[in-house]
Amino acid sequence: MAGNRTFTMIKPDAVAAGNIGNILAMINKAGFKIIAMKLTKLSSENAGKFYAVHSSRPFYGELCDYMSSGPIVAAILEKENAIEDFRNLIGATDPVNAAEGTIRKLYANSIAENAVHGSDSDENAQMEGSFFFSQFERF
Ligand code: UDP
Ligand code: MG
Repeated sequence: MAGNRTFTMIKPDAVAAGNIGNILAMINKAGFKIIAMKLTKLSSENAGKFYAVHSSRPFYGELCDYMSSGPIVAAILEKENAIEDFRNLIGATDPVNAAEGTIRKLYANSIAENAVHGSDSDENAQMEGSFFFSQFERF
């Protein structure tokens, strides 16, 4: 996934609110190609593993509860400069600080329930994509 791929999740709040289609439309309009995608659900154990990097942060328990509270859409996306461009498309972690027109500005409820995930590095994009998809599920 070097350089041109990122990993995203449409989080439980956005799926529950009926925003899968709106968010995928924004992702496609921004020029990302979908390489792999599934509707799935994290167990609280797997949410804990996925977010292990945040295990010492005060919000870790709530984050794992929230991320395992309902279905999510997991996807691998491809575009030149994917990591940075996707972070710009989703906006800041806290929707209060997210730029106008970003996915989080439009669809996030709060800093915790913030509609979408976006990888922060090539290395994490690779690891996170592999967490959800085997090589046979990628196109
Ligand atoms: N989060 C939270 N409270 C905080 C910061 C983050 O609940 O004060 C949650 C939020 O869902 C966020 C996730 O933890 O998306 C991962 O945090 P990170 O700092 O990596 O933000 P992101 O990379 O998602 O913008
Ligand atoms: Mg992050």
